[in-house]
Amino acid sequence: MVTTEAGNPLRREIEVMIREGDLRGLLFQAGALHGHFCNYLAYGVKGAAAAVRELDVQNTGMEEVVAIVETNNCLSDGVQLVSGCTFGNNALIYKDLGKTAFTLAKRSGEGVRYVLNPDFESSRQAAYPQAYDLWDRLVAQKQAGTPEEFQRMMGLFHQMALQEIEVPLEDMFVVEEHRVPMPPSSVMFSSLRCAKCRENVTENRTRRVGEELLCLSCAEDHVCTVDSRGISVD
Ligand SMILES: [Zn+2]
Ligand SMILES: [Zn+2]
Repeated sequence: MVTTEAGNPLRREIEVMIREGDLRGLLFQAGALHGHFCNYLAYGVKGAAAAVRELDVQNTGMEEVVAIVETNNCLSDGVQLVSGCTFGNNALIYKDLGKTAFTLAKRSGEGVRYVLNPDFESSRQAAYPQAYDLWDRLVAQKQAGTPEEFQRMMGLFHQMALQEIEVPLEDMFVVEEHRVPMPPSSVMFSSLRCAKCRENVTENRTRRVGEELLCLSCAEDHVCTVDSRGISVD
């Protein structure tokens, strides 16, 4: 991997971990962002580290590398931490496809798409029956568990993340080279003031109602929201 001494000082520790294949180190960093350890976080970390090495890129935080995630599940946080492409720096693109998959791409459009191997994914429940059983009861079915049960589940997921990150990459992901149509890099919009609530709002999120320029809330227009269900329009 070609690296420059200059690199990005803010991401030096992460870049070194990627280069040296310190997946545990990356997983712990990702845990600080994600708030818990789990297998999908481990998949995001492992896949993104491989993709960064494959494309031989360093992230300077200025959108020359773009990640496209097809899910907003735990994997996407691993991808964000390792690739440096985040929600806030506009280098993370969210395609609401509901697939545990991501693409890492250069501005030139050269990219690699990693899809979690469906057979591998389907085999995880049988590999970690206790963790999945607790998750099913306490999280999926929202049953009231004891604090001990909750703690036990978190412990099992922590162990699972540490074990899963060691799974060979070729068992975990199906990888394809992929040319990506690149969106324009950050488009800057000017800020306008809503005539009703008097809050500042980017120009492309205003509506003209009669003589007035309003924000979407005050104009009572549709607003797109990302939550656990994906993107929805209210
Ligand atoms: Zn998670
Ligand atoms: Zn307003």
